[in-house]
Amino acid sequence: MKNLFLSFVLFFCSSSLMAGDFFDTFSADKINSTVYVVHGPRELPNAKNRGFMNNPAFIVAEKSVVVVDPGSSHEAGTMVLREISKVTNKPVSHIFNTHVHGDHWLANEIIQQSYPDVKIIADPRMIKKARAGEAQTWIDNMISMTEGATKGTKIAYPEVAVSDGKQLKVAGLTFNIHSVGIAHSGTDIMLEYVEGSTFFTGDNVGYLRLLRMNDGSFRDVIKALDRAISLKKKYYVPGHGPTGGIELVELQREYFDTLYNLVAEYNDEGLEDFEMKPKIEAALVKFKDWSGFDDEIGRHISLAKLEVEKAEFE
Ligand SMILES: [Zn+2]
Repeated sequence: MKNLFLSFVLFFCSSSLMAGDFFDTFSADKINSTVYVVHGPRELPNAKNRGFMNNPAFIVAEKSVVVVDPGSSHEAGTMVLREISKVTNKPVSHIFNTHVHGDHWLANEIIQQSYPDVKIIADPRMIKKARAGEAQTWIDNMISMTEGATKGTKIAYPEVAVSDGKQLKVAGLTFNIHSVGIAHSGTDIMLEYVEGSTFFTGDNVGYLRLLRMNDGSFRDVIKALDRAISLKKKYYVPGHGPTGGIELVELQREYFDTLYNLVAEYNDEGLEDFEMKPKIEAALVKFKDWSGFDDEIGRHISLAKLEVEKAEFE
């Protein structure tokens, strides 16, 4: 009986330590003199990763801190605040959200709790879609995918809308906003941080991870990546996976371009999705170790085929 009691105590202690233990394993990588990125896990949200899978980033400006995509939950946001506090005691003045997918922005609220005056910035389509119910859907999905780990996460919507071509002065820094059509989710912005020569691609690039394209457009993602490449920045921060140089954007472009063009070609020959899949997998063999490849490639082919067929009527 005593042993049973002890194992209960140990069980509850160890499960209550899980969040801390897990998030203790992450720290912000310094990319350059002002930019820091916490590179998150690349697997889909699950109980083990507690819903954390994106790349929260922060930029230390003269008087305050600018956060990009703080993460999926109150726990992820708390970790981001901890990492900021290791570098500076300046307040967070602004948050950018790159798109509506909840793994990127549901941590807004926990940051807002510490900094009530924080301005949260996103594409107007993202704000509209989040408010129309997508935010709550993401909250619910995260709880079920993580078996309850993200419970307690609340919604803080972005309120400042920015679109393609806009140049913003934020915390004394210059940001150019890039948004190309539907791109990854129909709600995306990419951020060019001018002084830091750093480009945040959002989920138009998921380096070493194949990203969902259910709400996206292959042709628009390719155009978005062309824009990102043409700007020739020194640092590119993807939505998922390690930060790098222009080569990671070029590689991501190669994936989408090869996939879309092969789907178009095989579609012309009258092939069905399942008939073209092995041929396309062979052509994309260099990406086969990317996280999510086996799950997403079939969906990407089906979605690209729908887009090819639709394009024929344009
Ligand atoms: Zn996404």
